[in-house]
Amino acid sequence: MRYISTRAQSTAVSGAEAILQGLAPDGGLYVPEVMPVLPEDFVKRFAPLDYAERAAFVLSLFLPEFDGLDALCRDAYRRFDGHPAPLARAGEMSVLELWHGPTCAFKDMALQVLPGLMKKAKTLTGETRDIYILTATSGDTGKAALEGFRDAPGFRVLVFYPEEGVSEIQKLQMVTQEGENVCVCAVRGDFDDAQNGVKQVFAKNLSNDRFLLSSANSINLGRLLPQVAYYVSAYVDWTAQKPSAPSPAVVVPTGNFGNILAALYAKRMGVPFGRLVCASNRNHVLTDVIQTGVYDRKRPMVRTDSPSMDILVSSNFERALHLLGADVAECMDSLSKDGKYTLGADVSAGLQTEFDAFWRSDMEGRACIHKVYEETGYLLDPHTAVAVSGVCGNPLYRDAIIVATAHPGKFPEAVGAALGGRAPEDVIDVPQALTDAKTKPRRFSRAVAPDGILDFVLEWIM
Ligand SMILES: *Cc1c(COP(=O)(O)O)cnc(C)c1O
Repeated sequence: MRYISTRAQSTAVSGAEAILQGLAPDGGLYVPEVMPVLPEDFVKRFAPLDYAERAAFVLSLFLPEFDGLDALCRDAYRRFDGHPAPLARAGEMSVLELWHGPTCAFKDMALQVLPGLMKKAKTLTGETRDIYILTATSGDTGKAALEGFRDAPGFRVLVFYPEEGVSEIQKLQMVTQEGENVCVCAVRGDFDDAQNGVKQVFAKNLSNDRFLLSSANSINLGRLLPQVAYYVSAYVDWTAQKPSAPSPAVVVPTGNFGNILAALYAKRMGVPFGRLVCASNRNHVLTDVIQTGVYDRKRPMVRTDSPSMDILVSSNFERALHLLGADVAECMDSLSKDGKYTLGADVSAGLQTEFDAFWRSDMEGRACIHKVYEETGYLLDPHTAVAVSGVCGNPLYRDAIIVATAHPGKFPEAVGAALGGRAPEDVIDVPQALTDAKTKPRRFSRAVAPDGILDFVLEWIM
């Protein structure tokens, strides 16, 4: 299996090389040259497997040269409380809970696996240098990357987060991170500033004979592939729970388009999903491009209750465009020059064939958290609430899998306001990891302007 760049200017590489590099040399993202397919009887074959075995099977289709995937996945998912991706019930709704990992957001699903994949990729490619992981975060990736790579021999991690763009708990989780090989720095700006600064550092090609600079952001193939597994697994569980129900739609709270893209991959591999539904908050570039064919980032970023979706440049969207046959290099060129691009009619039609899209305000999200809690006793986090508020009560989506991306205890301000002043811990159990963040010593306090990111990195790699 070979991987090519979405921008078509770089040579094809192996899965191991793609995972170590992160971004392709032409600035594009690595995608499989040919999409692997699931065996026709995958539902029957997956039914008796546990989650780690299911994940290893899906990964093996993309990374056939990686041996030991079973042990790797078993190791990675050991740190989850119970089933890593259970299909839970909230009243009539089916909710795919992806927040049972050590940092309580869905990023753990991939970032607990990525260090193992990178280690294996080093062996396969003969790479002996240390790997330095550089990551920009809108809140949840940073903590999950720090937890995944902490004290892993041969790795160091540096995370940049937007100082004003994350929830208090998200920030505490990061600045109290333990481990000898980790570093955290605030950026005085929003997520796009942080992501952009990190991209500019990558463009400098700082890797040398001592280390290889790589990324744990969702541009990395090693983030995308483990996410495909939970969609396959969820479909298997869905058919067991509802043997006579039609194909489910999949509703995903979306920011950088990584999570929902994995659903599209699963569908292309043979999982018979219905509509894929892209849910956005007020930063709704994705709703607009899906509905109108015009991607326009020239708008102010708004801070919302769902900070991990406060994104205007949605990196993984280019993987979807590539799959639909767009000239990605041209689109991205025009995005960086003019802040926008317009899709051809065929690509735009292709998008609408795969995806529905909507956006919801904080007010609608909070009302939804309140209503669902009162009616079912199930507490949504503000990201998941964006998704639920768009489909709840709509007969079109009666059969849907709703993807829950974070534990509500991570966002006590918004959830508390939605509950009329009651805190999440007053109504449900909040994981120890979140309570601990409030009392652990703070280790990292530096903050830089966006144009100070490069200097900070240069100092860190010394
Ligand atoms: C990262 C994140 C999202 C957005 O996921 P993408 O893959 O970037 O679309 C949604 N909700 C939460 C809680 C997240 O951490």
